[in-house]
Amino acid sequence: MDLSHISAIDQHAHNLLRPEVMANTPYTAAFTEGYAPAIVNGHANHTLCYRRSLREIAELLNCDSTQETILRRRTELGLEELTRLCFGAANLKAIVLDDGFLPDTILPVEWHQPFVTTHRLLRLEWLAEQMIPQVNRFEIFLEWFRSELDPPPKGVIGFKSVAAYRTGLDIQSIPYDMAADSFYAIQQGFPGQRIRLADKPLIDFLLHEALAIAARYQLPVQFHTGFGDPDLDLRLANPLHLRPLLENPRYQTVPIVLLHAAYPFTREAGYLTAVYPQVYLDCGLAVPFLSVAGMRQAIAMMLELSPTSKLMYSSDAHLIPELYYLGAKWGREALAQVLEQAIQDGDLTALEAEEVAVAILAGNASVLYRIGDRATTVPER
Ligand SMILES: [Zn+2]
Repeated sequence: MDLSHISAIDQHAHNLLRPEVMANTPYTAAFTEGYAPAIVNGHANHTLCYRRSLREIAELLNCDSTQETILRRRTELGLEELTRLCFGAANLKAIVLDDGFLPDTILPVEWHQPFVTTHRLLRLEWLAEQMIPQVNRFEIFLEWFRSELDPPPKGVIGFKSVAAYRTGLDIQSIPYDMAADSFYAIQQGFPGQRIRLADKPLIDFLLHEALAIAARYQLPVQFHTGFGDPDLDLRLANPLHLRPLLENPRYQTVPIVLLHAAYPFTREAGYLTAVYPQVYLDCGLAVPFLSVAGMRQAIAMMLELSPTSKLMYSSDAHLIPELYYLGAKWGREALAQVLEQAIQDGDLTALEAEEVAVAILAGNASVLYRIGDRATTVPER
């Protein structure tokens, strides 16, 4: 199967790094979730993904596949031309950006708009972090937090939570007084300073607030699940921890999007999509960071049990435009390989496989986030 004609929606990615910041960042940093210098400078260039990606980038940029040559070629092109090339080759219908990652060093959401239709996700923990140092009473903070989400700001098509990174996905119902105590304890610990919110009662309380608002608007909420940088305790990033939220009758109308194939908890995530109407799953980060066999297995595991109406494409691209291209290339190629096997196995007819490809690459996200007109992604026959 060749899926290159299907224009994809990248339903979870991040803003590109400002060029002057990228100039002082090792290229390998874009290809690893690790940030220890020994990983970034000593080991990240030895992954199968990195070796494969250098050759693929070189082919796109029409140069030799050594890192030095690629870096020289990137400088010659400049970020705008490089972005045009990568986004064009990725054949993207739209991207959805979480601009809460490295907010001080990234280009604004609007910068990306000339290259591709761009939508925004609002990162909930980031929002709270901006507000907490600015108010000294919990009830005022809470009212302000609610007002920033309700109604959702213009251009925001979903909320995003990094609770998995901070305190884990075992999100509890928290009494008001307990959340208020946490708020005052944080303020006393860091008076007037910027904070990194990692307080479980307060994060859990605010997530319940956000979910109640999302329920009113039927607004999707994306959760980081599975692997990520070592800030995260992977044991607490298993999406099975979300059961109390998924069972909560107040949030049944909130689409919950599990990110990153929940890798390595992909089968657990697939199970959740199969039994909870509101749960969706995407493949970003697993695609394109795994080996080819790994990407194929991850997508195959997503398809083992999941209704195909619940699966979506994303890249989790960040820092550099090349990752948008590599994600789209392998999102299509690995999906094609898995669908070909499904045809061979008799799971799908060729026609059904084509429809599933369109749904996963664009159609499901288009419906879920009410982006554009789904019919335009269906290829001409
Ligand atoms: Zn992400």
